[in-house]
Amino acid sequence: MPVASQFNLILELDEGEKYFLQNTLTGKGAFIEPILARKLIQGYETDSHIPQLSELGSLVKDKETENLRLAMDMNRFRYSVSDAVSLTILTTSSCNLSCHYCYQSVLKELTTGETMRQDVEEKLISHIRDEISHGAKVLSVTWYGGEPLLNLGAILRLSAAFLELCRKNELEYSADVVTNATILNEELIKRLCDDCSVSSFQVTLESGRERHNLVRKTKRGSPTYHRLLDVTRLIVDRSGLDLRINVDATTREDDVSEVLEDLEAVGILKSNMVSVYLGRILYFLGIDGAQDSRQLAES
Ligand code: SF4
Repeated sequence: MPVASQFNLILELDEGEKYFLQNTLTGKGAFIEPILARKLIQGYETDSHIPQLSELGSLVKDKETENLRLAMDMNRFRYSVSDAVSLTILTTSSCNLSCHYCYQSVLKELTTGETMRQDVEEKLISHIRDEISHGAKVLSVTWYGGEPLLNLGAILRLSAAFLELCRKNELEYSADVVTNATILNEELIKRLCDDCSVSSFQVTLESGRERHNLVRKTKRGSPTYHRLLDVTRLIVDRSGLDLRINVDATTREDDVSEVLEDLEAVGILKSNMVSVYLGRILYFLGIDGAQDSRQLAES
């Protein structure tokens, strides 16, 4: 008899009028009917197959099968990496936004806006050659920054070199990008997917339209929220999307609800290419975590 997954996270919104369900094992989430949410909270057991819940991984055959899946996922992660090389490549430490909690404002040595030099690119390629000669079979790359797309040239050059090495030596290759998405457009997404084998983008929204525009504004002060909503739609037409919603102790349920509703309105939540999750903001020493709320209250 199907049972509720142990990994369901259910967010009650609008005083029980709406519920958002996230399964932390599959990473999938969606709005669900209140009646279903309440049943899941009570530890649902049912004879019937409910496609929406099964697709989310929120209703499972039984707990033993689910535990087995978790063990298999963990073992795959733990043991299958011996011939896999995983690199996170910081193409630049500069960024076109100025989020006040960014590590860049604390770790001054990383705020110089430095861009990867050509000799570093060459060393990276040489490092991959070494790994291949030592038996690597899989190469995965995460493009990271600052805003990594500000140094698109490095991504294009290194991707071409990595893909060529992988083709010649029969390695599997995959890549993803952690980006603020503000300079992405249809053409650039296509280029990254087609020429650089990027299969996933990680994009962050703040909890609430106003807070997002307050925190994730450009250095000239322009808001980015609605632009990002449009870009997320373009991304899911071609690629996977990990959508992180930033939260902290001052986040209100209504703020999260607002973002989820906007994502639903642009059709993002229906796509099985999307994983939406809440991510806690980590404040570095000296950064004021309540700054956004005070500014919002004053505005
Ligand atoms: S978008 Fe990312 S890198 Fe840029 S300022 Fe914000 S947190 Fe820092």
